[in-house]
Amino acid sequence: MRITVFDTRPTPFGLLRYGVAPDHQGMKNVSRQFDRLFASDHVEFVGNTIIGQDLSLDVLEENYDVVVLATGLAVDRPLTVPVDPDARVYGAGQLLRYLNGDPDSILRQSTPPSLGEEVLIIGTGNVAMDVARLLCKADDGFRNSDVDDDARDVLHTAGLRHLTLLSRGPRDRVRWDGSMFAELCALPGVAVYLDGDLEDRSTLSAESGRDIRVDVRFREIPVGIDADGHQSVIRTRFHDELGAADDGSEAFVHRADTVVTAMGFVEETAYGDWAGREGVVRVGGCGSGFLGNLAENRTLAKDAARNILARLSNSPGHIGLDGVRPYLPPASTTFSDWAAVDRAEVDRARPDRVRRKFTAWAEMADVIAESKK
Ligand SMILES: Cc1cc2nc3c(=O)[nH]c(=O)nc-3n(C[C@H](O)[C@H](O)[C@H](O)COP(=O)(O)OP(=O)(O)OC[C@H]3O[C@@H](n4cnc5c(N)ncnc54)[C@H](O)[C@@H]3O)c2cc1C
Repeated sequence: MRITVFDTRPTPFGLLRYGVAPDHQGMKNVSRQFDRLFASDHVEFVGNTIIGQDLSLDVLEENYDVVVLATGLAVDRPLTVPVDPDARVYGAGQLLRYLNGDPDSILRQSTPPSLGEEVLIIGTGNVAMDVARLLCKADDGFRNSDVDDDARDVLHTAGLRHLTLLSRGPRDRVRWDGSMFAELCALPGVAVYLDGDLEDRSTLSAESGRDIRVDVRFREIPVGIDADGHQSVIRTRFHDELGAADDGSEAFVHRADTVVTAMGFVEETAYGDWAGREGVVRVGGCGSGFLGNLAENRTLAKDAARNILARLSNSPGHIGLDGVRPYLPPASTTFSDWAAVDRAEVDRARPDRVRRKFTAWAEMADVIAESKK
């Protein structure tokens, strides 16, 4: 069996590279398992190739026995309440992509202003925990990470003083994993309050030079965000168990310099809406509609593999990559190209970092061109 893995980016590994938090290297190292796959003769990587633009799904179906869509859920789920366009609101996915050195992060399109002293996060799942931890962490906490230090400086995360997290659900049904919350509480100089009660695990000593208050507020949902000068005004209401209380009861008002939404992810449809396409197998976030963690996606992948094997037994035997080569963009990349970028990023890292990512595609293209000389 031969497998081709296409990706829009010149580099493989999707959100493992540009989503999973840069201080969670244990998780990021899962990519080593894939390195072994790509080293075999049976699996080929073709990067810098957009399915739906450079190559149509029809061309893929004409040349492969089975086509699998694993395009993820790339877009932050947007707020559905009125938001003043002047309010500074970022999606958690885009913010984490920025801190992860992603050249395509929306925040990289122009130099973003400092996040300010007051940040409010809408959502309390694990992605919200990642954002909270990365913003509260002092420099020391990034040892052996591959965080984009320039991005931290631009956002001036060192200036954060107060972080508020809004949870739609009640305190006894939190969305975060216990280990993720414990990691936030353990950060030096960070005091975590749950509905105003100091969490016992908070490490109040500010030896780190940080002194940040984190307030988690339960059963509270936003009803609108207004802009007021450089700040945003977030109007919220109490959320009851049976649905949002529509009587306007218990309205709260928060002020923040920056608002971050962490409410899940939805599918990118810029290159085609492939819903209902019978011939393709969908897997991962784009198959389930929910961006689960790696373990959950591994289970989905096993089911998909069984489905693929069943389809292969009836397949006429297509020619695969050789059939689509004429359509590949001239700048499409291979796994060896990625290996050159990988080495260069590791080589140029500061001594206390594991890598320093290139944050422009042109820089990666230069490294790849140099590696071929
Ligand atoms: C901020 C964040 C932090 C996370 N942290 C953790 C964690 O700590 N632990 C954990 O277990 N899980 C974590 N996850 C979840 C984990 O990232 C997902 O489970 C996993 O990445 C989903 O894999 P996927 O293949 O569905 O999507 P992705 O990883 O998004 O991969 C999709 C790939 O498809 C490519 N693509 C999209 N459209 C096209 C197209 N038209 N043509 C060609 N290629 C295309 C993309 O470039 C991308 O490389 C995190 C997720 C996020 C967003």
